[in-house]
Amino acid sequence: MRHVAVIGSGPAGYYSAEALQKHYGADVSIDMIDRMPVPYGLIRFGVAPDHQSIKAVSKRYEKVALSDNVRFVGNVTVGQDVSIAELQELYDAVILATGAPNDRPLEIPGSNLPGVIGSAAFVGWYNGHPDFAELAPPLDAGAAVVIGNGNVALDCARILSKTRHEFEGSDIVEHALQALDLSAIRTVTILGRRGPHQIAMTPKELGELGHLEVSAPVVEGADFPPLEADEALDPGHRKSITILREFAATEPDAAKPKRMVFDFFAKPLRIEGQGRAERVIVERTTLDETGAARGTGETYDVPASLVITAIGYSSPRMDGVPYDDRGGKFRNDDGRIADRLFAVGWARRGPTGTIGTNRPDGYEVAELVAAQMPPGTTGTLPGAEGLKRLLNERGVMPTDYDDWRKIEETEVGRARPGSPREKFVRPEDWLRALGR
Ligand SMILES: Cc1cc2nc3c(=O)[nH]c(=O)nc-3n(C[C@H](O)[C@H](O)[C@H](O)COP(=O)(O)OP(=O)(O)OC[C@H]3O[C@@H](n4cnc5c(N)ncnc54)[C@H](O)[C@@H]3O)c2cc1C
Repeated sequence: MRHVAVIGSGPAGYYSAEALQKHYGADVSIDMIDRMPVPYGLIRFGVAPDHQSIKAVSKRYEKVALSDNVRFVGNVTVGQDVSIAELQELYDAVILATGAPNDRPLEIPGSNLPGVIGSAAFVGWYNGHPDFAELAPPLDAGAAVVIGNGNVALDCARILSKTRHEFEGSDIVEHALQALDLSAIRTVTILGRRGPHQIAMTPKELGELGHLEVSAPVVEGADFPPLEADEALDPGHRKSITILREFAATEPDAAKPKRMVFDFFAKPLRIEGQGRAERVIVERTTLDETGAARGTGETYDVPASLVITAIGYSSPRMDGVPYDDRGGKFRNDDGRIADRLFAVGWARRGPTGTIGTNRPDGYEVAELVAAQMPPGTTGTLPGAEGLKRLLNERGVMPTDYDDWRKIEETEVGRARPGSPREKFVRPEDWLRALGR
């Protein structure tokens, strides 16, 4: 028997566990340790609440989660309740699947003004992440800016633009729904330093913007290169550009009171305001021969009392684990950090790709583990029993998968007809659901 600790129960953690089971069968015991009392990482706390079909991916992890040799150990923060060095004394291998939860900072003057919020915080707020329950984003003025040209930027802009009615069937948390219902925001401007061809937005996410109830997309036709240039793009990307071209060719629906403005070739220089964000000062850019954005010197103001930065994420450091400052992730060699210590998913490669991209990562890391301790060999370390003892001594009360099912059933049971599912947001709510 071999004991493996996987830290983080997001997609990368589950794919790693699935792959380890394929290598070792019943001869491995896997503990999935997570700081949250519930599993699935960004599937619960990141993926947009109005994209339920994507959130349903977590059902695919249930087979692994419910198998006899996989144990969910929630409510345990590695680095706080237990250290990596301690885990290495208990387990034959330790896999870091901790994701990249920190917002990359926008390093321009004014980025620390109230009203400037990272997308991790904003997304966490509407998805019920306990760290952001008290965020209270300012929605009291007419305009917001989202900085970034990826799908996370689109998620933030879309959530700001939807009506209560459009959230039916979602699992947006009630505090966010109520605040958005009262929101005064009428214009959301999405700023991108480069042009339409450089976006990292996918067709499905762009396409739905054409069908919002009260908001219409606004795209400038002059921002596009000649149509023939689209032929060099890969098919998915070309589809995204085609959708943007369609938006540019269509007069925004006058019956819709809100606008989502795509401002390309727009580099934020600074954020200004009296005691809070009021406007973003933007420089018009052009692409140089290498494809980089170059400032033209022409500047203009974009009003915004809420500025959301969606410009990437990084992993927090962990004591004793080498860190790659530039990449914002653990320093690793194709997943190997050190002897018996590995990284997978966003903690390994940074915040790129879809949920599915983490699957090959998980399979690769399992190969590395299997190469280091071939299936059929046995170890002497105590694994789960040792961790239970240690957490018990420290008064840490982990949650297990049955607890998660109980929490989920309670959440579903509390839903009112016509309202989104009511999610638990604060740790005390979770514990109350468990009768603790
Ligand atoms: C806003 C947003 C929307 C997205 N939407 C989509 C989408 O629609 N479709 C799609 O395909 N992809 C989407 N993605 C990408 C997808 O969520 C990621 O590819 C995936 O979640 C990365 O998996 P992971 O397991 O590496 O990290 P995560 O999912 O972040 O999981 C990391 C886990 O580690 C735990 N953890 C962290 N630190 C510790 C610690 N010290 N101790 C214990 N546990 C810890 C966390 O609680 C978390 O459960 C989205 C991402 C974001 C940010």
